[in-house]
Amino acid sequence: MTGIHSDTKAQVVSTYHDHPTFSCSTCAATIALQDELISKSFSGRDGRGYLMHSATNLKMGKKEERGLLTGTHTVSDVYCLGCNERLGWYYVKAPDNAQKYKEGKYLLEREKLVKENAWKLDD
Ligand SMILES: [Zn+2]
Repeated sequence: MTGIHSDTKAQVVSTYHDHPTFSCSTCAATIALQDELISKSFSGRDGRGYLMHSATNLKMGKKEERGLLTGTHTVSDVYCLGCNERLGWYYVKAPDNAQKYKEGKYLLEREKLVKENAWKLDD
């Protein structure tokens, strides 16, 4: 990726040169750093998902209650700033203490992401 200060996508940040990252599979916007990965063993809506400490270039949808495998969570879907593709969701509130560690974290759909730059993890 070039054009860090590109005016055409002013909101999209791409300052993670040489770091392994997840990028949007549709528009290649940088979404998250590999270092921010917490777990690869989560379930997304349609397949496997990644739990991430943080993510970037995302916008939040409206908050809603959603029944997940581990109980009813309050989540907001997250959308790519570059192309509006739904990439996963943000955990606003967990149902109980056992799930609390997910609050403030992101679940990103594995199918919607591509790996960039010297990715070191296995699939
Ligand atoms: Zn995108």
